[in-house]
Amino acid sequence: MINIRVNALQQLRSNRSTEVETPKKHISEYYGAYVFHEQAMKAYLSKEAFKSVMHSINSGSKIDRSVAEQVASAMKAWAMNNGATHFTHWFQPLTGSTAEKHDSFFQQTTTGHGIELFEGDSLVQQEPDASSFPSGGLRNTFEARGYTAWDPSSPAFIMETPAGKTLCIPTIYVSYTGEALDYKAPLLKSMQALEKASVDVCHYFDKNVTKVFATLGWEQEYFVVDEALYEARPDLLMCGRTLFGAAPAKGQQLEDHYFGSIPERVYQFMVDFESECFLLGIPLKTRHNEVAPSQFECAPFFEEVNIAIDHNQLLMDVLDRVARRNHLRVLLHEKPFAGINGSGKHNNWSMATDTGKNLLSPGKTPKTNLQFLTFFVNTIKAVNEHPDLIRASIASASNDFRLGANEAPPAIISVFIGKYLTDVLNEVESRVKSGKFSEQDEQTLRLDIHNKIPDLLMDNTDRNRTSPFAFTGNKFEVRAVGSSANCSSTMTVLNTIMADQLVKFKTEVDALIKKGENREVAILHVLKGYITSSKRILFEGNNYSVEWEKEAKKRGLNNIKTTPTALDAYSSKDTIALFERNKVFTKVEVHARHEIELEKYIKKVQIESRVLGEMVLTHIIPAAVEYQSRLLTNINGLKEAGVTKKLYEAQLSMVTEISEHIMVIRNKSEAMVEARKQANNVEDIRAKAIAYCDKVKPYLEEIRYHVDKLEIKIDDKLWPVPKYRELLFLR
Ligand code: ADP
Ligand code: MG
Repeated sequence: MINIRVNALQQLRSNRSTEVETPKKHISEYYGAYVFHEQAMKAYLSKEAFKSVMHSINSGSKIDRSVAEQVASAMKAWAMNNGATHFTHWFQPLTGSTAEKHDSFFQQTTTGHGIELFEGDSLVQQEPDASSFPSGGLRNTFEARGYTAWDPSSPAFIMETPAGKTLCIPTIYVSYTGEALDYKAPLLKSMQALEKASVDVCHYFDKNVTKVFATLGWEQEYFVVDEALYEARPDLLMCGRTLFGAAPAKGQQLEDHYFGSIPERVYQFMVDFESECFLLGIPLKTRHNEVAPSQFECAPFFEEVNIAIDHNQLLMDVLDRVARRNHLRVLLHEKPFAGINGSGKHNNWSMATDTGKNLLSPGKTPKTNLQFLTFFVNTIKAVNEHPDLIRASIASASNDFRLGANEAPPAIISVFIGKYLTDVLNEVESRVKSGKFSEQDEQTLRLDIHNKIPDLLMDNTDRNRTSPFAFTGNKFEVRAVGSSANCSSTMTVLNTIMADQLVKFKTEVDALIKKGENREVAILHVLKGYITSSKRILFEGNNYSVEWEKEAKKRGLNNIKTTPTALDAYSSKDTIALFERNKVFTKVEVHARHEIELEKYIKKVQIESRVLGEMVLTHIIPAAVEYQSRLLTNINGLKEAGVTKKLYEAQLSMVTEISEHIMVIRNKSEAMVEARKQANNVEDIRAKAIAYCDKVKPYLEEIRYHVDKLEIKIDDKLWPVPKYRELLFLR
């Protein structure tokens, strides 16, 4: 009998000897070589065209038709000089990955002759036949028309594969009637809303600010496993996670992997993917081992949020491709192994001005500190008003395994700010008297805030690693985002709630100013009100504790543990009004998105359930039966040899135990199929998702329990799929 697992283990040995060429050059010599960035544009465009494009990019205004024509021709020249033969509109449909449809520059002119051509029209807009992407009912498949439209604010780049090079043009993806079908379109709208609202508020402090943009620095966690072992596990192949696997004797309890030296084969892989990222202008900065065995992390310098997200999407793509070429596989799933830490994607978020100021960085003078306090307190207030929407934005079938487990932020959204800022807020609250403006307010402004805040930057040890939303000195870190997620969902929500909050803030402050109040004192008073009304969202303790769950409940903070109900926040009246007010989503678009997320959830659970059902019948039970037969042969042999029963009782009880597990596995698999059938008959999509969550998903765990028991009872040579210790420790 061929054992897939034994074969895979043999294959692993030869995979290990893959040679990877390490780049000989300094990073600075090739960084961004495949990006049509500002310098490249300058070199390839006429002076006027360059000026015009840069103006459009910086101001977000429309690019002139004739200029688009020139840009297209410059892009083509640049791309062809770099070896590209094709171009594609590169977009981010709601499936979660990126999409492309390649077209050749080549066009036949007469039979047997042709030229390389790329016109403004092809740059600006395309109509990919993309009718199979999720649209939540927005796009009738018969019409099949979805358009991609150029996003000039994110530079075009060249994607290289062994088969050739392709010019990729970042685009948004919208329906024929203009509704967003992707992640980028709403993100860009949320950025506009945030920009407008924060520039207005910045003008209280600095009239020179003309542009504010959100910044994002993500930290990507991932697992690496050998390709042969990966391919021997249908669950990894189909679901990106193991659906069973007995806990290895040694897991992560020694924590010896964390920040340890990077295993050589993975190190080679990192060098390889990093050099691809550098060509693409992804500013990767750090790499290290994570807590779990075979878990790693990389993080770049932060960038403007739209670019940062494009880069993260690109990185996930590059990770996957480069891993394959190294005979490895990257697992981006939030929880590939039960009992082992999962993976997240911390989103470090802040706002920066075109005058070079980080709005969440405490300043050196009372005035700049009031600006800091303004943006800081407004963020807290924004989160306090919309915690459930943030929760919805991080919800997915795979992230459910991580949130609320004892390793990741809980499903309760709260904000950590540290001791210093807690003191500062308390002080503002106690010194500024409601409704009354006093001389003391001025003093508070000039003295205390100023004296306290600078300490904060000095002390970065004040960290709470359990908080889902933590202030870390000059930015907020959203820790609950899943490792496989497109950051846009969360960033769009964050930008929008912040924009909305800042608009309200300005209205309140202006009203006080109109009554004749001094501007700074007015700001202080409004902030004081926010501090008081946002208290419930602040939590400094251990977010993993049971006490916090109880306390949060008292404070009226929700603890929504599963995706189908977490997504409800998308369809609440408040949410729709919020998105419409800020022109980020229309009502129809929010509903469509909600529906798509529910659908994705259903499909994910459905696939897992099918894969497990098949694996137990075709892999696990046959192995168990085989071992059982051997035991029975042995027992019969012993019986024939006249050995007393007592001496083969152990074998007998093993046979019985195996039979019991087989029986339960089979019964539960059948019951799971039945549960699936019933869930499939549910008409309403939300109810169907809940049925999958409550009625189908529990079987995955129940069946797994017995499979894991069998794994530790059956002859190791017969076990058909790679075990946890092999997946996690062999590279
Ligand atoms: P750590 O959190 O590991 O101590 P850092 O504080 O240096 O490390 O930064 C973590 C991440 O936060 C990095 O990706 C970094 O680029 C990002 N970051 C730093 N400053 C900002 C900012 N102003 N806006 C957004 N992200 C930022
Ligand atoms: Mg961090």
